[in-house]
Amino acid sequence: MCMSTDKQEPKKVIPIQAVPAEASEEMVSLYAAAKKIYPRSVEGIFAYWRWITVAITQIVFYGLPWVEWGTRQAVLFDLEARRFYIFGLVLYPQDFIYLTGLLVISALALFLFTAVAGRLWCGYACPQTVYSEIFLWIERKIEGDRSARMRLDDADFSLKKLSKKTYKHIAWVVLSLWTGFTFVGYFTPIQELFATALAWNFGPWQFFWVFFYAFATYGNAGFMREQVCKYMCPYARFQSAMFDHDTLIVTYDAERGEPRGPRSKKTDLAAANLGACVDCTLCVQVCPTGIDIRDGLQYECIGCGACADVCDTVMEKVGYAKGLVRYTTQNAMANKWTTRQTLMRVLRPRVLVYTSILMAIIIAVGVSLAVRTPFKVDVVRDRATLARITENGGIENVYRLQVMNASEKDKTFQLSVSGMQGLKIETETDVKVASAQSHWVVLRVTIPYGSAEAGSHKIVFDIKDTSGNDVIHEKSVFIVPR
Ligand code: SF4
Ligand code: SF4
Repeated sequence: MCMSTDKQEPKKVIPIQAVPAEASEEMVSLYAAAKKIYPRSVEGIFAYWRWITVAITQIVFYGLPWVEWGTRQAVLFDLEARRFYIFGLVLYPQDFIYLTGLLVISALALFLFTAVAGRLWCGYACPQTVYSEIFLWIERKIEGDRSARMRLDDADFSLKKLSKKTYKHIAWVVLSLWTGFTFVGYFTPIQELFATALAWNFGPWQFFWVFFYAFATYGNAGFMREQVCKYMCPYARFQSAMFDHDTLIVTYDAERGEPRGPRSKKTDLAAANLGACVDCTLCVQVCPTGIDIRDGLQYECIGCGACADVCDTVMEKVGYAKGLVRYTTQNAMANKWTTRQTLMRVLRPRVLVYTSILMAIIIAVGVSLAVRTPFKVDVVRDRATLARITENGGIENVYRLQVMNASEKDKTFQLSVSGMQGLKIETETDVKVASAQSHWVVLRVTIPYGSAEAGSHKIVFDIKDTSGNDVIHEKSVFIVPR
């Protein structure tokens, strides 16, 4: 039983000394210089898959602009002609809805992958990760692995150091320029761009974008690296909103690993009061963002799995079970779930809802693309003249009509107009438009004088594809002057 007592100890009086104001002032610098990170190379299942995604994304990125489709580039975003070519698809600015659909699909896919496996995009497919990985690979080939690179950077100036650094930067610059060139090749026919590059005859915009993109690649992948992920990328900031306790994340099993410490193979762990972590710090040395996964989930972690790979090799060497650092969920860790239980739980309602919405939007965009009318029409009233009386005594309105052929065949379109008594087109009604081209026509439309009251009247232009049954109805107005 706890007895209380009224006897209180006399309070100690602590003398407060007067301190001169200037003595309490201290300069605190808010700037901390970034420490260079030297990630050690790593092998393992996650490194293997990262290299697979690096290879796929780069083969697609560097190769796609060179693929031909008939007489043109298969994928070309021709901003000047305001036309996007994606294999057999020809998209005009009026098809903006498909771009919106694509953005919605990308956002939902990101939510879905993040809910399932955290920063899967960051660790395996984000351009920042992919290019940092390639640049780092070049660096390793020329300067060596982590310790060799650290020694080289610490070493005094020498011819060997200069030549290694020079080779590395030449390789980086060449790759960056090729990346910038390829990027611009998505917006300007790449064959022409290549000929222009050989003749060193870039236009100002081509010059700007090739070098700007090359500079961005060189700076971000060569120097900024993890700092882009840590300080510039907004995704790192709001990812926690998409995580829950059933999201797969790279985690250190502290219960199994602690207390950490070095030991020999023969050490009795129970007797020595040691966990499975041998405190080799290899998981920190391979981390591209320089963090220690043993400190728990941190926003800097891009979920690349390098620490899991290296820790597995350590566990293998010391003869312990793998998976001290592994992809798992917080719930699985707390409840000691098996891999099967963990994966079953990953398929939770949230994931199923994201998947259903994503599939529904993909199907909707796919179907609407498949059934879309293969041409577009824009009707613009001639603003210069509202209406005029012709020499034949009719009332005439003038329109400008743009017919956009979004197919791979030359087509003829038949124009007609309706909506008012005696309304007819006085100009040519058959319009020929070459494949994937657009054509402007001036239309003069008349009604007999006195056949309609003064004012604005609704009319409809019908544009029919003579090679099929597709018809587009475009509304406009006909002005009858007082
Ligand atoms: S690699 Fe594994 S064993 Fe080595 S320090 Fe990291 S967690 Fe511990
Ligand atoms: S902590 Fe592990 S998973 Fe996270 S970034 Fe570092 S190495 Fe990659």
